[in-house]
Formats: sequence, C-alpha cells, structure tokens
Amino acid sequence: MTKFSHQEAKDRFDRYYEGDLPAAEQRAMDGHLASCAECREEYQRLVQALGALSRLRATHAPEGFLDGVQGRIRKRSRGRFFGRRPDFTSRLPYEVLSVVMLIAILAIFLYVFLGKGGGVIAR
Ligand SMILES: [Zn+2]
Repeated sequence: MTKFSHQEAKDRFDRYYEGDLPAAEQRAMDGHLASCAECREEYQRLVQALGALSRLRATHAPEGFLDGVQGRIRKRSRGRFFGRRPDFTSRLPYEVLSVVMLIAILAIFLYVFLGKGGGVIAR
C-alpha cells in the first residue's frame, strides 16, 4: 500500500477535496490523514475555507444594498448619476417626440381645415 509523506499529502489536498485522485492515492491520503494530526488539521482548514468560499458565492446582497450603492454614487457625483428624479423630457427619445409633434400639427391642421364649414371658427 502506498504511503504519503507530509509533502506528498499536502500536494494532493485540493485534488483529494475534489475527489479527483486515483483510488490508490485516495486510500493513501485517507491513511495519512488518519495517522497525521498535522495534515488532518491543515486539511480541515482547507475544507473550511473552501466551504466558506462556496457559501459566499451563494449569498445574496442584503436588503437595500443596491439603493445604498446608488445613493452613494449619486452623492459623490453630485447627482450626475442615479439622479433621484430625472425630468421626463430628458428621457423621452427625440424620435418619439417628433412623431408626437407631427401628429399634433396634423390634428390642429385638420381641426382648422375641416372645421371651416362646421361653424367652429368664428367669422
Ligand atoms: Zn502529514
């Protein structure tokens, strides 16, 4: 049966953790960790660190985190970014505005032109 030295064991901690070792090396690692307190401790620290990292990945931002970040950016940029209430016209695309204006002009034109016989316009 294969036996690992400290260094050989430590070199294989990550692959042992991933279950990525050949069966014989896996057994040798089991054997070394069972008999060596130093490596067992170090391996436990690695497992805890990796476990903490994987928990971090799954953690969600606390409530209000986004608002807080945006608020801070707004404050430091003096309102240039994430302004509280951008006025409506600055956000309306000009294309939409021009179409609306054309429709309004057409409506006024038709109202005036067709309204001639209807007694709408005083003469
Ligand atoms: Zn050892």
